[in-house]
Amino acid sequence: GEALAVSARVAPLGSRLVLLLVEDLTEARRIEAVRRDFVANVSHELKTPVGAISLLSEAVMDAADDPEAVSRFAGRMQIEATRLINLVQELIDLSRVQNDDPLEDAEPVRVDTLVAEAIDRCRHTATSKQITMAAGGTADLRVWGHRGQLAAALGNLVENAVNYSPARTRVGIAARRVTAPGGDLIEIAVTDQGIGIPEKDRERIFERFYRVDPARSRATGGTGLGLAIVKHVAASHGGEVSVWSSEGQGSTFTLRLPEAGAPAPAPAPDTTGA
Ligand code: ADP
Repeated sequence: GEALAVSARVAPLGSRLVLLLVEDLTEARRIEAVRRDFVANVSHELKTPVGAISLLSEAVMDAADDPEAVSRFAGRMQIEATRLINLVQELIDLSRVQNDDPLEDAEPVRVDTLVAEAIDRCRHTATSKQITMAAGGTADLRVWGHRGQLAAALGNLVENAVNYSPARTRVGIAARRVTAPGGDLIEIAVTDQGIGIPEKDRERIFERFYRVDPARSRATGGTGLGLAIVKHVAASHGGEVSVWSSEGQGSTFTLRLPEAGAPAPAPAPDTTGA
């Protein structure tokens, strides 16, 4: 009688344990699959420009007595080499944001400085496409976090806004403080009048290597890693990134980050030794 009662009490616990184990295994398998996909994607992304460079170098050798063809092939080799460099740099950035705890090196970071840096980074492309960039509301706002990672995140959003917009449009960056139960947040919104993002892709664009239109993304030199970096940085800072978009009209990416609190008061001067 007693044994039966005990096993009746233990059985539900046992089945929950089995369930937890199964869930754990499923999760482990999922993580393993994501890792394998990532390695396969990286290999594929690296092979494309390397293959092109190899073919182009053969073409250069074959065209040795045609200087015009040589310079044309060399120009294309340079484009492929740049793509390779961008990809390797973004892979390094991604692994850095995934491995470093940003809050270990956290400090108050001025939003106007971050915005100015992000605009600077795209000035060349924006000027050549006659895209106007305007920022507002950034004065006196400070976020709490890792300066380099925050700059990378905002830089990627502004870069995308410029890349996925037609000529003679406007990119706006607006910042404001929003009150939230867990402490005030700083919201930085990057708005473009670009091609927009189809609804079915909106969830997935934050995945590594996901692109709405691979051909267009390659044309802009995109790696498909930028938004994965942004999402990781936002999350590891206790913030988030979200997107609003209307196809053919434009997109707004909004970054929400914890506000840097008031600076700690300076320690009282030490007068004991006077
Ligand atoms: P990429 O290096 O290809 O730009 P991202 O991870 O930064 O990679 O972005 C993923 C995809 O999301 C892009 O390939 C593009 O299709 C889409 N996307 C990102 N930002 C925008 C934007 N501002 N407007 C339209 N599409 C965008």
